[in-house]
Amino acid sequence: MLKKIIKEGKQKIWLRNRESLRSKHELRYLFWECTLNCNFHCIHCGSSAGDRFEKDTVSTQEIKAAFKDVATNMDANRVMLAITGGEPLLRKDLFDVVTYATSLGFHWGMVTNGFLVTKEIVAKCIKASLSSVDVSIDGIGKIHDDFRNTKGAYERAMNAVKFFADTGKVPMLRISTTINKNNINELGRMYEVFSKSGAKYWRPIIVDPIGRALENKDICLSRAQITKLLNFVKEKRDSKSKLDTSLGCAHFFGDYEDEVRQGFFYCATGINIASILHNGDIYVCPNVPRRKEFVYGNIKKDSLSKIWNEKFDFFRQKERTSNEKCLNCKHWEECLGGSFHSWNMSTMEQKMCLMP
Ligand code: SF4
Ligand code: SF4
Repeated sequence: MLKKIIKEGKQKIWLRNRESLRSKHELRYLFWECTLNCNFHCIHCGSSAGDRFEKDTVSTQEIKAAFKDVATNMDANRVMLAITGGEPLLRKDLFDVVTYATSLGFHWGMVTNGFLVTKEIVAKCIKASLSSVDVSIDGIGKIHDDFRNTKGAYERAMNAVKFFADTGKVPMLRISTTINKNNINELGRMYEVFSKSGAKYWRPIIVDPIGRALENKDICLSRAQITKLLNFVKEKRDSKSKLDTSLGCAHFFGDYEDEVRQGFFYCATGINIASILHNGDIYVCPNVPRRKEFVYGNIKKDSLSKIWNEKFDFFRQKERTSNEKCLNCKHWEECLGGSFHSWNMSTMEQKMCLMP
């Protein structure tokens, strides 16, 4: 009972805080999709990356100028640069660019599949003041290899985690796992193996019907499997276990809120999150399926800081994801229509409403 009262109090404070975040809309996470090129061709990839050497990919000078613009007009110290792809390590100027970004005051992190990580690469990351790294591992052994369509991918990814861990110099070393039909029954095994990997954090993410996963919908979880995942994560968090386990930002989980990740559901896209796509387009969270109307400019010709301050109004409206059902739902105030990336813009419905 006491726990419930404390949680309700925390939630009320959070809801006030969330409204203040919306009205201030300070940029906190700037994703840079630095390439669409990837050494893998995963069946769930939200960016549909692969062998893609796009001619319009931003140049070294263009991306540096965009970072300079942000650092000149905002407090770079308060902006986390999250480098994604494709595979960021395939971008030859990566360390040049992040070293420059660090000199401007940004913190940076990256998401990697780990395949190309060697001790030398890790040393370069440390030298460039890497703050966080997410190594994507989607199962043990063959399950991961099959998911990534590459034999040996699992071993290389686990080696990458070890190389980063051995330095003891990466503040946030995390394994990210897309939970899907092929690995949902392996949660316990993954937990045991990952807790001995050297990573301190584990982030399971529910696979959503977007990007390439749309063509592979059979990998999506059933409602019962999602509940299984929620109970598993809740139990690990309750027991203050050795591997800090926390679900990714997506989806409103009702009574599980504040129990499967720190804090309550918040889709910050366009409020605190923006991205620079591979071609320089200025976009919202990169997980949002690509739509022309959400491209607010391009860093090759526009000032990102100006666009951020002047053009993201739609995303700062409380009712940006709403329909009659949502507005009359008893969870409306906490959920606000759920994650933007799984909102169906054609039917104006939430694809992943997990409430009865
Ligand atoms: S769009 Fe999805 S991934 Fe992006 S911030 Fe919102 S919930 Fe998170
Ligand atoms: S009906 Fe809408 S507001 Fe209610 S839980 Fe579902 S997505 Fe959220």
